[in-house]
Amino acid sequence: MSVILEAKTLKEQKAKEMAARVAGLSSVPTLAILQIGDREDSTTYIAHKERFAEKIGAKTILKKFPTDVTQKQIVSEIGFLNNDKSVHGIIVQLPIPLALDKDTVLNAVTPEKDVDGLGAVNTRKFLEGRVDAVVPATTRGILALLGHYDISLEGKKVTIVGRSTLVGKPAAIACINEGATVTVCHSKTNHLKKETASADILIVAIGKPRFITADFVKKGQVVIDVGINSPMLGKLDDEPERLPKVVGDVDYNKVHTIVDAITPVPGGVGQMTVVSLFENLLDAFGRQR
Ligand code: NAP
Repeated sequence: MSVILEAKTLKEQKAKEMAARVAGLSSVPTLAILQIGDREDSTTYIAHKERFAEKIGAKTILKKFPTDVTQKQIVSEIGFLNNDKSVHGIIVQLPIPLALDKDTVLNAVTPEKDVDGLGAVNTRKFLEGRVDAVVPATTRGILALLGHYDISLEGKKVTIVGRSTLVGKPAAIACINEGATVTVCHSKTNHLKKETASADILIVAIGKPRFITADFVKKGQVVIDVGINSPMLGKLDDEPERLPKVVGDVDYNKVHTIVDAITPVPGGVGQMTVVSLFENLLDAFGRQR
């Protein structure tokens, strides 16, 4: 019987602690969210952020832009928010339209308010393993979840599938910083199953519904499923009509009977990502006092 690494209890515990912290502050920690376009998934993620902010007594300001917004307009808006003392964190909801240069946009956010930790200054600090580095929210969430279940990374062999700047690479750096030996796999990796099955801890972030099945894993492993996908993309022929709202990159039903521990989707990493974003906001607020 595997342990289900659910985030609910930890999320509630952290929300209570954060609400108490916010209640004791002289002003309200405020997060500005820039949304370019109106992708449905982005709108859902933003709604989760707004709800969590409300729960802990923080504030969010949503700035919406059409998909044809110019880079100059976005950079100028970020510049305005950088100088606004009532705003403590700024995030640009990803993905953004290809016509905009992602690096330029992300680097326009002043490092003090870069609570996603995706700008060049923070990335450098994070690479160096500095204590004042902002750990990108999904990675911070993974670390928190592992810590909550007393799963140490030190000395472990970790395999990460996915090398994105948003998830795979930061997760790899964090695991190295925590003393793990890390293998990062991607679409060009040969013998992927061999790499995944040889890990103590397997972290999957590829964006392919239920891609990791029984033959990718082995007994004794911890599996962290970062994926959030529409189940329609990976619908199986024998599946009942009532599909779940989202599914992970791991075929939970086939894998959980084999491994020692696994995160559910939903209810795992995604929940912790929201919490960690606001932990980053409160840290930024503290540094700006
Ligand atoms: P991404 O930017 O599309 O990157 C996907 C990565 O997976 C790439 O490195 C790609 O390899 C690799 N990949 C794709 N197909 C593969 C295959 N068949 N075998 C091995 N590697 C493969 O995606 P992302 O932004 O990292 O997101 C990944 C998933 O996590 C998505 O489902 C997303 O919705 C989810 N997500 C969840 C959270 C959360 O809070 N839980 C946060 C962010 C993202 P190449 O580099 O070679 O192309």
